[in-house]
Order: sequence, then C-alpha cells, then structure tokens
Amino acid sequence: MKGLCLACGQLVEAEEVAGAGHVVLVKRCPEYGESCVLLSTDATYWN
Ligand SMILES: [Zn+2]
Repeated sequence: MKGLCLACGQLVEAEEVAGAGHVVLVKRCPEYGESCVLLSTDATYWN
C-alpha cells in the first residue's frame, strides 16, 4: 500500500505491521527513510 511521508509529503511505499496490541504503518521514503505511524492500539483492528 501507499502512505504520505510525514517529512516530505510525498506518496511513498508503506506497509502495515501488527505488533503486540497495536498496528503501525511503516513508510519507506526514498529521501527520508523509514518512519512509523501508529494506526491503532486495538488489536481487533484487523477483524
Ligand atoms: Zn519523504
């Protein structure tokens, strides 16, 4: 999927990663590298 980079505002590759009780969106910007955004602290987000 894609997400907006917080540093430069470009649409970059992004991946949802489920951790222990939370879901983060990891964005990979070619200029600014990886950044993580917390999507949800609810593990049932996926259901
Ligand atoms: Zn960027």
